[in-house]
Amino acid sequence: MKALKKLLDIIDKASTSHVLSKQEIISLLSTDRIDGQLFHAADRVRAAYVGDEVHLRGLIEFSNICKQNCLYCGLRWENTAVRRYRLQPETIIEFAAKAKDYGYKTIVLQSGEDEFYTVDKLQQIITGIKKLDLALTLSIGEKTRAEYQAYRQAGADRYLMRIETTDAGLYSALHPGMSLENRKGCLLDLKDLGYEVGTGCLVGLPNQSVESLAEDILFFKELDADMIGLGPFIPNEATPLKDAKGGTFEASLKVMAITRLLLPDANIPATTAMETLNKNGRIIALQSGANVAMPNVTEGEYRQLYALYPGKICINDTPAHCRGCITGKILSIGRKISEEYGYRKKNTVV
Ligand code: SAH
Ligand code: SF4
Repeated sequence: MKALKKLLDIIDKASTSHVLSKQEIISLLSTDRIDGQLFHAADRVRAAYVGDEVHLRGLIEFSNICKQNCLYCGLRWENTAVRRYRLQPETIIEFAAKAKDYGYKTIVLQSGEDEFYTVDKLQQIITGIKKLDLALTLSIGEKTRAEYQAYRQAGADRYLMRIETTDAGLYSALHPGMSLENRKGCLLDLKDLGYEVGTGCLVGLPNQSVESLAEDILFFKELDADMIGLGPFIPNEATPLKDAKGGTFEASLKVMAITRLLLPDANIPATTAMETLNKNGRIIALQSGANVAMPNVTEGEYRQLYALYPGKICINDTPAHCRGCITGKILSIGRKISEEYGYRKKNTVV
């Protein structure tokens, strides 16, 4: 009884002060006895700080070509089993215009680290999309500060780059040729340049400890991230981690709920990877702290080729279908679709 009371006190403390120690986070992550209370608390904090509106971001997966070799990812350079594609700048702008017609206010451009897209090409794409009066998020990996500055000057508003894991040993084992320090440095540069910055981690990586997940959450808080995207690691047949166990829906939901308690006004998406492991995953996430969804607005066959992990939802659907589907789900739980651009509103209680 005493132990249970202690866990509930931690949830209460997090709900009101939005601060927890590493040890307190570890105790919440190490038991499933208080999961229901944790999810309810995160839902209440979400309602109090960011309200009932759900922000939709239209995701365009514009290239699956990547020079990196992240061990978990199907787009890694050494994977020859995936047919590669890249969209031309005009096509990307055309997809964004279609997304606007479906009612999206924000576009997220995501790709592997593909050097075809020089600063000039990206400036052309960013300018073209900003002319459509859309908020624009880039999620294109690690670049130099000068490149980030050029994209920002061209009009990019936000940048999404998960830290993936803050565990230094695990980070280097999973990311050949990359460094945790550089990735952190990129996120700091992006903040400094005035982007809204999104980050996040994978949950359930091989050898990932509860301690390191607690550190990940504290990292989001320390960075004061504007957006935090969390999802289970899902093993991909075409990667060296094909035989790994993978993360669970529940564990990623818990990391997400604790993140909501500590960053009450951040934007937190209900992620596609969560829905891959649970067919109601996004709705459950929206009722456990999330306030954003990122439906795919990539047209045609490309979304099948953007094969980060297997079982990705909606690969045979059209943007129109996805928009209708997620809208229906959101309305069915009594929430609303936001008509705004969905910038983070800091420290507001609605
Ligand atoms: N190249 C960019 C953006 C594309 S990858 C970048 O790395 O930042 C987008 C996200 O897909 C990554 O941040 C990673 O967390 C996720 N991802 C990759 N492989 C995955 C897998 N096997 N299971 C779940 N998520 C995965
Ligand atoms: Fe490339 Fe991103 Fe996949 Fe790493 S996670 S291989 S950087 S697409």
